[in-house]
Amino acid sequence: MAYPIIQFINTTFTYPNGTTILQDFSLTIAAGEAWAIIGPSGCGKSTLLYLIAGLYPPTSGQLLVGGQPLNRPRPKTGLILQDYGLLPWATVWDNAALGLDIRRFYGPDGKHAPINEPFCDKQTHVAHWLKRLGLDQLARHYPNQISGGQRQRTAIARTLVLNPDLLLMDEPFGALDALTREDLQRLTLELRGEGNLTTLIVTHSIEEAVYLGQKILLLTHPPTTRPLIIENFSAGGLDYRQSREFFSRCNRLREMLGNPT
Ligand code: ADP
Repeated sequence: MAYPIIQFINTTFTYPNGTTILQDFSLTIAAGEAWAIIGPSGCGKSTLLYLIAGLYPPTSGQLLVGGQPLNRPRPKTGLILQDYGLLPWATVWDNAALGLDIRRFYGPDGKHAPINEPFCDKQTHVAHWLKRLGLDQLARHYPNQISGGQRQRTAIARTLVLNPDLLLMDEPFGALDALTREDLQRLTLELRGEGNLTTLIVTHSIEEAVYLGQKILLLTHPPTTRPLIIENFSAGGLDYRQSREFFSRCNRLREMLGNPT
């Protein structure tokens, strides 16, 4: 049994204006699992992700990530957003190397870099990930010289260069055309298979949730008190999208989103 990488234990989160998103909420996510989080706008998907990222503290109860209470963003957690967050004046290479440069600047202080992880050789490591993500020919290009899909690949490279064990993605492919989106969904599955990476993807797309989420967390109207989880263990197979099971899972999820119980 894999160890729990994320544990909400009777967690409540309320924004300063009084909007409560989670109320006495408990959920355990095991290392290596692939989760999708889906629900209508405003149900709290991004809030949940940002809590796990350590960007917001719980109001009460506990949230453990990697077995530790979170006081700040954790160096082993990667976060990928829809708008890529690339520096426009830096090349693909420099964007991908940014996190490593920041780590070297501060040193292994446990805030910016893990304490026990030796520094890798920057040139080799960045070159490896750019090649793995098909960006090696674009290393000297700037973000405005490459496509949206290539920008998101650069953002993924920048995160994976830091050797995360947990990858949080907030609508990462929402701004991309359908083919590029499918391409990056396949890449996400491949990357997960290559390392023991726990992935959580927030999405509006039923098909994306069923393709990528071995477990799907369905959120409805906040505050959420009990997690509604759909088990979808066939997810992860590259051919799953063409299967009858995939279509029936999508239909079931569509029904549940229309009529959650
Ligand atoms: P989703 O990602 O599912 O669309 P969010 O997590 O962004 O939902 O937002 C959940 C709810 O919290 C919404 O009602 C939103 O208006 C509210 N909310 C989000 N951010 C803040 C904030 N900084 N202060 C107060 N309320 C917020």
